[in-house]
Amino acid sequence: MPASCAFGSIHRNAYLNTPDLVMPNLELKARSQTWVAGQLSGVEGYVECIASGLVTARLVADSMTLLPPETILGQLWRRLILEPDKRGFQPVNANFGLLPALANPPRDKKLKKELLSQRALDALHAWLE
Ligand SMILES: Cc1cc2nc3c(=O)[nH]c(=O)nc-3n(C[C@H](O)[C@H](O)[C@H](O)COP(=O)(O)OP(=O)(O)OC[C@H]3O[C@@H](n4cnc5c(N)ncnc54)[C@H](O)[C@@H]3O)c2cc1C
Repeated sequence: MPASCAFGSIHRNAYLNTPDLVMPNLELKARSQTWVAGQLSGVEGYVECIASGLVTARLVADSMTLLPPETILGQLWRRLILEPDKRGFQPVNANFGLLPALANPPRDKKLKKELLSQRALDALHAWLE
């Protein structure tokens, strides 16, 4: 394995214990008018950090409402503002496991992911309207 892969697999990650420290709009409880985003807020990965920056910017600009729970970004956001589970708060990448289970999940994994994606898009369209 090339060294760069090894370093990418296990790396230092500085983040806040966000569920204890922020309000639902990602504003610091201890310092008003200061919002967190990206890795510092407890999301992990390039796309996740960019998306979290967009959420925080929208919260600052126009008090966006919570994204639907059927979307992965909605779930990442919920993880930051809700109580941590017993294992403690840990940064997380976007993944299908964050989403609520389907009522009747198919056995086929590819189909299951397609159904979860379509459900997320439907929820997002409804939310946007
Ligand atoms: C070795 C490694 C490999 C990785 N590989 C992947 C990967 O393959 N895929 C993936 O999706 N993610 C990967 N990640 C995770 C990803 O890099 C981070 O989740 C993401 O870059 C964090 O983005 P960010 O903008 O929140 O923070 P950062 O990218 O850390 O940006 C923070 C910026 O703030 C600046 N800064 C810090 N303090 C101050 C200050 N006081 N004043 C002004 N500026 C300041 C820093 O210089 C930096 O430019 C990897 C991380 C590491 C360390």
